Amino acid sequence: MASSPETLHDRLGELSDLGAAGALVGWDRETVMPPGGAEGHGEILATLERLAHERLADPGLGRLLEAATQAGGQDAAIARVVRRDHDRATRIPAELTAEIARTTAAALPAWMEARRDADFARFRPHLERQVELARAVAACFPEAAHPYDALLEDYEPGATTAQLRTVFAQLEAGLVPLVEAIAARPAPAPLPGPFPEAAQRVLALEVAAAMGFDAEHWRMDDAVHPFASSITPSDVRVTSRWDEQDLSGLLAVMHEVGHGLYEAGVDPALARTTLGSGVSMGIHESQSRLWENQVGRSLPFWRHWHPRARELFPSLAGLSAEDLHRALNVVHPTLIRVEADEATYSLHVILRFELEVALVEGTLAVADLPAAWNDRMRELLGIEVPDDAHGCLQDVHWAHGSIGYFPTYALGNVVAAQLWEAARRDLPGLDDALAAGDCAPLLGWLREHVHRHGRLLDPPDLVERAAGGPLDPAPLLAYLEDKYGALYGLPR
Ligand code: ZN
Repeated sequence: MASSPETLHDRLGELSDLGAAGALVGWDRETVMPPGGAEGHGEILATLERLAHERLADPGLGRLLEAATQAGGQDAAIARVVRRDHDRATRIPAELTAEIARTTAAALPAWMEARRDADFARFRPHLERQVELARAVAACFPEAAHPYDALLEDYEPGATTAQLRTVFAQLEAGLVPLVEAIAARPAPAPLPGPFPEAAQRVLALEVAAAMGFDAEHWRMDDAVHPFASSITPSDVRVTSRWDEQDLSGLLAVMHEVGHGLYEAGVDPALARTTLGSGVSMGIHESQSRLWENQVGRSLPFWRHWHPRARELFPSLAGLSAEDLHRALNVVHPTLIRVEADEATYSLHVILRFELEVALVEGTLAVADLPAAWNDRMRELLGIEVPDDAHGCLQDVHWAHGSIGYFPTYALGNVVAAQLWEAARRDLPGLDDALAAGDCAPLLGWLREHVHRHGRLLDPPDLVERAAGGPLDPAPLLAYLEDKYGALYGLPR
């Protein structure tokens, strides 16, 4: 039998490689795998995950972590983070993890059929089981102040239900009247298309290159659901999909390249340590959203890119940078989260957070979920849900058992605005640089304050240091009020 690696770094290198192999198989599945490969890929991924879980929970790793903590220095800082992963892997019984995987395997096809036929009853028993299992996971951490806190830990270490309730209440109080005020104003005309896929791809690759996409270390492919994946920090892959009616394909590329830049910018000293990637889903989403929205939907950005866009899309002839900016910032309440604009997006997330917390607390029964969803959509966005396919069946997350994931989308918006405000303070020439097509100052700022830390700083620490204060929805509200106030001529 081969001997096990002996040092902490050997162990972490092995864990990191198992994760990278899983990412590679996952990327292949979403991009180039022939349909018949699904079953085989599922087995490969399950094996890699089982091996990684065993290696992470191994008592031998626990001893090496103990020794590294005693030794101090950088290894102690690394050990602090890995210790948490190790404890979590140890405390959730293997049988519970396997039961979640089995439940998910059955829930996914049931969810697809239920969504196709707008038939919640077909999905209901699967969701009931997933909620039960989520509560069983939470019960493994009795010290958590709220059972939902234990679930959040998987996606957003350090976030708490109490803190999210406060932040989201402030967001709701600012966003609901803003969306109402915008709805009372005439909507800007949409961009005149078409936007042929080939031309959109050319523009997207040029923009991506300006952001930092470099063909030596990156690639771009098509996928049904766009995503970014880094196999290693020097092998980053993004995917996109194209819609010839609008420029959503370009903005999706900016979003995914934003995720990719985060992964590519981690300090090389953290590579192969399990700390060499983004720290949380929320901080990750702050990076993608900042490039997609604060940059890609800004006037300075379009001052530089609109001549090129007009060259590539003859239908834009005669439109100014201001026209493009206006058309890319239409606000309109919709039923579907993934299609939501910057002003309404977080409201979709707040709704899911409240319902998830109620399901986990047991104050909402799964059977009552559709009615609760529809009531809240009416209150938050003023729209009627015609059927559950356009309501509580629209997202895959609950079929996956990913309860606690949704809040990270809104945290991404909140943190993106906090970082944007801080970057603008530090870089007074930022607008001029973007208007000259120069993204380097912004990327440099993000590398210094966010990317290089990998998982070394917990999200609350990272936000505190980078933005100069704790999680705060005020910069997001101020940014949206400024932007839409000017675009829609709202009374100030
Ligand atoms: Zn994203």
